[in-house]
Amino acid sequence: MSKQEKPKLIRINADGTLNVPAQVKIAYIEGDGTGPDIWRAAVRVFDAAVERAYGGSRKVEWEETLAGEKAFRETGHWLPEASLETLRCCVVGIKGPLTTPVGGGIRSLNVTLRQVLDLYACIRPVRYYRGVPAPVRAPEKVDMVVFRENTEDVYAGLEWPAGSAEAKGLADYIKEQLNREVRAGSAIGIKPMSKEASQRLVRRAIRYALEQGRRSVTLVHKGNIMKYTEGAFRTWGYELAAAEFAARTVTETEVQEKFAGKAPEGRVVIKDRIADMMFQQALLRPDEYDVLAMPNLNGDYLSDALAAQVGGLGMAPGANVGDDVAVFEATHGTAPKYAGQDKVNPSSLILSGAMMFEYMGWEEAAARIRTALEATILAGVVTYDLARQMAGAREVRCSEFASAIIEQMARME
Ligand code: NAP
Repeated sequence: MSKQEKPKLIRINADGTLNVPAQVKIAYIEGDGTGPDIWRAAVRVFDAAVERAYGGSRKVEWEETLAGEKAFRETGHWLPEASLETLRCCVVGIKGPLTTPVGGGIRSLNVTLRQVLDLYACIRPVRYYRGVPAPVRAPEKVDMVVFRENTEDVYAGLEWPAGSAEAKGLADYIKEQLNREVRAGSAIGIKPMSKEASQRLVRRAIRYALEQGRRSVTLVHKGNIMKYTEGAFRTWGYELAAAEFAARTVTETEVQEKFAGKAPEGRVVIKDRIADMMFQQALLRPDEYDVLAMPNLNGDYLSDALAAQVGGLGMAPGANVGDDVAVFEATHGTAPKYAGQDKVNPSSLILSGAMMFEYMGWEEAAARIRTALEATILAGVVTYDLARQMAGAREVRCSEFASAIIEQMARME
């Protein structure tokens, strides 16, 4: 970079916070299938929000990063090394959905991205946007942020098919060395969970709760049955809170025993719930929960269940975050049958962009996006997926929905 050139790359400070230049380069992957449709719509909303919020004093330079079918067409690789390097350099990136190539040698590009860049926390905020048709009576009571561990648990890929030599070898080892029986011919999967990975996830969840003024962090586990894995996740979570955040957190038990049932001002309450009970609580008493931290499998199920509860499965934003790189993403797939039709709902990617701006400390841009998107839906201007569930709605194309959000932003000034 020449001396005259303005700095454009985000830097990570020694304490893990971000140093974001006013003119910043952000990596994007437009994605496969409907990805280009939703990217074209979303980027107009992002630029408009930044322009409205900062009047030209801040600006994003979007750096295209190849992945998926477009990368394969142009380079012969599904996920070129240069793309990973761009994401590492930019520190922050945003992506549309990617096809999982069948028989292409890579199991899933999304999983590969998470593993190679060590994006260990999958973050899914779930809240209700007024106007969205929801299946429950009081969807507005849901305002939770799921922190799901992304690298371990039964998703680690350590499993072998029924009848394989590996599964038989493991069964033999278990019988001979551990004196336990596995039914003959079983498939076997392994559920690794480490203190290091569990604690870095919980650390991130507690930091987020403190930064965002959230009330509680709930550790969601199945430790009553899986004592040494899920039970340990719970124990390690409480230990981490006590070791690193003693002055700013308090356990639910302490709230009862030492503070007469009322959490002291400014302290985040650390509590835990067994996963199956958490599914009930999410429906019955959602307003008692705030930030949730959990192992991989629990997080996969619960984040989709919560998103469905607010009617927003197709609108839910998400991010995969590590210590060095964060990638924000639409949580739905490529919906290939609608590719190129300018039809699908770009809200998931747009709201992921709002999360990204919040992560960068550009809260004013994030707030404009969320408020204008909600106002657009409330006005009954929606894409086909919501229109078919809403009486009297005006169905618009993907690009028209983005234009309507941008017009709302102008009206809000
Ligand atoms: P999908 O692409 O999410 O599509 C399933 C259905 O969900 C669509 O047919 C459509 O429903 C609805 N839908 C999805 N996105 C929508 C949007 N933006 N607006 C409105 N409706 C939307 O799931 P899939 O068909 O199982 O997966 C297709 C491909 O995507 C696969 O290759 C899969 O591996 C990949 N995938 C990628 C990601 C990712 O990159 N993060 C995630 C999941 C799947 P209707 O038919 O009812 O209109």
